[in-house]
Amino acid sequence: MKHKQKRITILGSTGSVGCSTLDLIGSNSKEFSVHALTANNNVNLLAKQAKIFNAKIAAIANESLYPDLKDKLSGTGIETLCGREGVIEAASSPVDFLMAAIVGSAGLEPTICAVRNGCTIGLANKECLVSAGDLFIQEVKNHNATLIPVDSEHSAIFQVFNFADLDSIKNVILTASGGPLLNFSKKQMKKVTPEVAVAHPNWDMGAKISVDSATMMNKGLEIIEAHHLFGMESKKIKVLIHPESIVHSCVSYVDGSVLAQMGVPDMRTPIAVSLAWPKRIKTNFEALDLGSLKSLTFRDPDLDTFPALNLARQALDMGGFAPTVLNAANEVAVYEFLDKNISFLDIAKIVEKALEKVPSGSATNLTQIYEIDENTRERVLKETKPSIISKSTA
Ligand code: NDP
Repeated sequence: MKHKQKRITILGSTGSVGCSTLDLIGSNSKEFSVHALTANNNVNLLAKQAKIFNAKIAAIANESLYPDLKDKLSGTGIETLCGREGVIEAASSPVDFLMAAIVGSAGLEPTICAVRNGCTIGLANKECLVSAGDLFIQEVKNHNATLIPVDSEHSAIFQVFNFADLDSIKNVILTASGGPLLNFSKKQMKKVTPEVAVAHPNWDMGAKISVDSATMMNKGLEIIEAHHLFGMESKKIKVLIHPESIVHSCVSYVDGSVLAQMGVPDMRTPIAVSLAWPKRIKTNFEALDLGSLKSLTFRDPDLDTFPALNLARQALDMGGFAPTVLNAANEVAVYEFLDKNISFLDIAKIVEKALEKVPSGSATNLTQIYEIDENTRERVLKETKPSIISKSTA
């Protein structure tokens, strides 16, 4: 019988997760073929990837770059698309596996389209679960789609989690490296620049998640993500600082067993798990050498210095639109920080303030989520403006 290749679409192929996914596809080309690739602005890399991997479709979200994309791919037979609709069309085209690796809630709508195809989805884009968790999971169930977590912590839990006996699980433990500012005081954090905040000691990631790691909002978003992926209530999701990033997370069972997944901090392992699931594929980087490890350390997070962690848990416990508001406010604040319009410590303050104005009720459809997301962004940007003005006139 002829071996059937898995056809893969990557939303966000030009990003950190997208490039690592293509790296794995390239070294396992008998197993996988590329169907569609999408990007926002990086037209050069998108066109290059589409040619190298012989993609069927390339979509660029930024419409002004469409002529450039068409020009670069002319004569190749690769279909080109553009704008939000183009990305959605690419995401809706049926495949065996779709990697959802757009950053932020911009990934929600295209990922939902793939869910509605009943696709198997590698979910890197945690923000779509944070923003629209209950509805997202309902869509997954309604359309018989399959979600494989790509976030290293959730991939670790996925690999050691007994889905058949939830009562046997005491809690899940998300490990956190603590990011580049783990040992900083609040006073030192006041002066942190974007360059310092994105310089993660263990992981090489996109700018937004790197800042989220520095504030530890990333771990907060992961608490919400774990809640939706594994059906765990907030109090059963623990966080432990583990600066070595070797134990990627654990599941603690009622009989006292703690099952953990370990590996070097390289996203290609969790991406490989998702791509090949339920099988395994080879990766071509150095595997974990347990004998060479000096020590593995664990400690509780400092919630005073990293208030974002508690804000996310607070949003999960509030329910309703709170996680949508948290996510939108955080996205705006992170990009304002990266643009040097606000200080590092302002990020958590902005999110805290946004959580004071969460609309009542909960979403019955995705349009409500898009509206709350949009309204929160507008409000937070407006409220952030005075500090931009005072900064520029200071
Ligand atoms: P990057 O910033 O490196 O890449 C983001 C990708 O999304 C790029 O391809 C970018 O295109 C595209 N994109 C950005 N905005 C839009 C938009 N409005 N419409 C369409 N496409 C868009 O991010 P990462 O790869 O680091 O992260 C991707 C997701 O995976 C995030 O949700 C993150 O939290 C999650 N994740 C990432 C990990 C990592 O190691 N990087 C680990 C675990 C989770 P362009 O390049 O053209 O701008």
